[in-house]
Amino acid sequence: MPLADRFDGFLVDLDGVVWIGREPVPGAAEALRALREAGKPIVFVTNNPGKHPAAYAKRLSRMGVGVVPEQIVTAGMVAARLASEADVAAGRTVGAFVIGMPALEEMVTEAGARLLERDVAQEADVVVVSGHRGFDYRELLAAKRALDRGAALVATSRDPTMPYPGGELPGTGAVLAAVETASGRRAEIAGKPERHLFEIATQALARSFSGNGDEKEQANWRVAMVGDRISSDIAGGRAAGLETILVLSGTTSPEQAAAADPAPDFVLEDLSGLLA
Ligand SMILES: [Mg+2]
Repeated sequence: MPLADRFDGFLVDLDGVVWIGREPVPGAAEALRALREAGKPIVFVTNNPGKHPAAYAKRLSRMGVGVVPEQIVTAGMVAARLASEADVAAGRTVGAFVIGMPALEEMVTEAGARLLERDVAQEADVVVVSGHRGFDYRELLAAKRALDRGAALVATSRDPTMPYPGGELPGTGAVLAAVETASGRRAEIAGKPERHLFEIATQALARSFSGNGDEKEQANWRVAMVGDRISSDIAGGRAAGLETILVLSGTTSPEQAAAADPAPDFVLEDLSGLLA
């Protein structure tokens, strides 16, 4: 029996699982299509806030995996939501200083916060951190000033690296370490392995189940988290009460998988192993 048949639905990570940078992981699109044809709901979950869910949906559709943006949950969306909930006086709009890519800034604005430029960042109610290639000392200083004055600190993840063709890139965790070190503060994490992203993703999956007319009680669903990073995908999936499947197509070596704590329930070379 293929491994996929043990499960009613899946949360599937993107970077290192479906693609690496701009390159699709071989076999991933075929495996995802087969899951869809077998009627297995999938919600994609990513700590990468580099694009809007609609852009990820479009990219998946170009790979032949038709999804709607509601089936994609990014740490950027969740971080934007957390930022918009920062504590401010009644009637005031949350002021946010964002270290991150333009898409993250847009999501923070769409969530209802007002973006602050670097030169007035000290007025921020919240600092939102995510890795981006333009990160520099002036951003770090502006974030520190805001945090020293009591701004809240939200980050998309602590992932130290990001899988990329030709070798990993420094990830959000590396940038966040600089901000936390300079400020002496500790961030609230929006993405995996923390609960916020998993709560939204499992709700989205629940809507897929009801959309399928599946009357099964939620408590009886068998849902697997499929990802390539132990510290976010496997630890987070486990904490959310899901079964966990580690794929070796991304950031984790076979040696690291064998020594993983927590240990995943299953280890596969890549997504196509779900159908074997
Ligand atoms: Mg990944």
